[in-house]
Amino acid sequence: MRYVAAGTLDDAVNAVAAGAVPLAGGTDLLVAWERRAHPDAVCDLQRVPGLRGVEAQGDRIWVGALTTHADLGRAPLLLAAAPLLREAASSIGAVQVRSRGTVGGNVVNASPAGDVLTALYALDAAVELRGPSGARTLPIAEFVKGPRRTALASGEILTGLTFPRPGPELQGYEKLGLRAAQAIAVVSLAVRLRLDGGVVQEAALALGSVAPTPVRALAAEAVLRGRPLDGTAVRAAARALSATATPIDDVRASAEYRRAMAGALLERFLERAGLPLAAAASPA
Ligand SMILES: Cc1cc2nc3c(=O)[nH]c(=O)nc-3n(C[C@H](O)[C@H](O)[C@H](O)COP(=O)(O)OP(=O)(O)OC[C@H]3O[C@@H](n4cnc5c(N)ncnc54)[C@H](O)[C@@H]3O)c2cc1C
Repeated sequence: MRYVAAGTLDDAVNAVAAGAVPLAGGTDLLVAWERRAHPDAVCDLQRVPGLRGVEAQGDRIWVGALTTHADLGRAPLLLAAAPLLREAASSIGAVQVRSRGTVGGNVVNASPAGDVLTALYALDAAVELRGPSGARTLPIAEFVKGPRRTALASGEILTGLTFPRPGPELQGYEKLGLRAAQAIAVVSLAVRLRLDGGVVQEAALALGSVAPTPVRALAAEAVLRGRPLDGTAVRAAARALSATATPIDDVRASAEYRRAMAGALLERFLERAGLPLAAAASPA
């Protein structure tokens, strides 16, 4: 196997266009090699400048593709602006995987259980791509086509992600796994709620591990929008979340359990946010 350590983005694009497989943290790629044939060549992206970091860019936030999950977990900008992304990143694997694994790898890997990927759906993120014929941007839901399938064209590299900088809102990432660490999500829910006087002005809800890709729960968002965050609204939204889920039975959980938990995670989020359902049922 040929190993290319690209020193510039152009070098990386040329190597990938010539057939090399992009290598970021290697936490997915190296595991895959144990099961499948090794590629003829890999292009290590680690030394390409300008692909790592979290920055405010006007009214959007940019996250470089080589930013690790550990970087996200300690990025001060995300503390106020996108805590759900920090929470999703901090829920991944364990410290070793978070120190190597990157945002770009999580997105290109396109697992329906991708934690950062699911959070990026709720943040209305866009992917930035660079290939032999230039740069392009795609909404994340158009980029992810199915398990391990993306719209990445031949020779293209994911350089970063951007999302609109959220205003003040309640955010969180709820992950249900079989253990507290090194656990792939059985179901996950990324939540953003903008409240004014107890009334939901905007809602963004994304579910992981319940369909071939993460999904936005548009019906549940519509249920909440414009209503007080009371027990009736939350229970209706939880039912809509369960109805959005189209999971499968697998070794980790049954489809039925996943559907039930998709709704239950909204209540768990509200409890953690200090708005348990009983209190939410009779807002001041
Ligand atoms: C023990 C263990 C536990 C894990 N736990 C979790 C978990 O809890 N949650 C979770 O979501 N994931 C988990 N993962 C999966 C993995 O760690 C993440 O998906 C990680 O973000 C992958 O990033 P990476 O940089 O290691 O990707 P790599 O392995 O380097 O690459 C993954 C894929 O993306 C491509 N790629 C990478 N970067 C780019 C780029 N910039 N442009 C184009 N293509 C690119 C590669 O060619 C490859 O196909 C776990 C993995 C392990 C081994």
